[in-house]
Amino acid sequence: MLYNVYSDYLKNRYGEKVYKLPVGLPVTCPNRDGACGSTGCTFCGEIGAGYENLPADMTVNEQLLTNKAHIKPKYKAEKFIAYFQNFSNTYLPIEKLKNYVEEACHEDVVGVALATRPDCVNDRYLEMLAEIRKKNNIDICIELGLQSVNYHSLIKVKRGHTLAEFLDATYRIKSYGLEVCAHLILNLPWDDTIDVIENAKVLSAIKVDQVKLHALYIVKGTQMAREYEAGQLELISREEYIERVITFLEYLNKDIVVQRLIGRAPESNTLFSNWKTGWWKIRDTITKTMEERNTYQGRLCNYLNGSAVQKYL
Ligand code: SF4
Repeated sequence: MLYNVYSDYLKNRYGEKVYKLPVGLPVTCPNRDGACGSTGCTFCGEIGAGYENLPADMTVNEQLLTNKAHIKPKYKAEKFIAYFQNFSNTYLPIEKLKNYVEEACHEDVVGVALATRPDCVNDRYLEMLAEIRKKNNIDICIELGLQSVNYHSLIKVKRGHTLAEFLDATYRIKSYGLEVCAHLILNLPWDDTIDVIENAKVLSAIKVDQVKLHALYIVKGTQMAREYEAGQLELISREEYIERVITFLEYLNKDIVVQRLIGRAPESNTLFSNWKTGWWKIRDTITKTMEERNTYQGRLCNYLNGSAVQKYL
């Protein structure tokens, strides 16, 4: 196994193909509405991460049915994960979120994924989600935007939280029997290979369940776009991104499921997006290079559980 591929994991866990259906809610983000910031992260466009979503004024039920009607015949899929994708979904009032998640628990929905920020994770919400999980016999995964363990970079992109909130949120989520998926951007302009390795080591040490990797894309009209146009940002090459992903995987615990090696960035409205290369081409180059080098996820994951004293055991 080169790496722990998400689609294989889903097939093993649920016995057949499972597809994620995006659902958009009328929600914002505390880093945009003034609670902890008013401008958002410097790379964030107006629509958050949810550019694939249907309009958020459609009900959860309508969105799921519309997406299912499209996906079911195309991929012959019978089981689904409802993915609340945009902005910070656990920033909604608790009763509203409860109703939305319950509405998504269709018979053929085996899991719910909720994207949010580490500083929007709270015990009361987790207790509510744990109850829904138990009652409906589904899996619930909280997808946390971390982007980098380098807390200096997090300040530069105006995340409004640092590594500490991510660690706190992860421990809390796991204590309620829910899963954690961490989102990372492996090419933030201030990060280098040391940060990439530390990303893998921290995620392995705190036992996140899944990880999703992205390459930075620069959306027009954002602060990062202005910095990019002013020549203030230096972005690594596509080849260097490929090297970083391979290094990240080598240090990552083999049990962590990898949802993506690179995001499907929107091409319109961007100044920079995946080096103008299809995401699948970059993914294929990564896997081909790993095969040629005879390397794999977890090959260098030899730093946990008191590695220095293991020679005495
Ligand atoms: S946390 Fe997410 S939605 Fe909020 S400003 Fe940052 S990228 Fe945008």
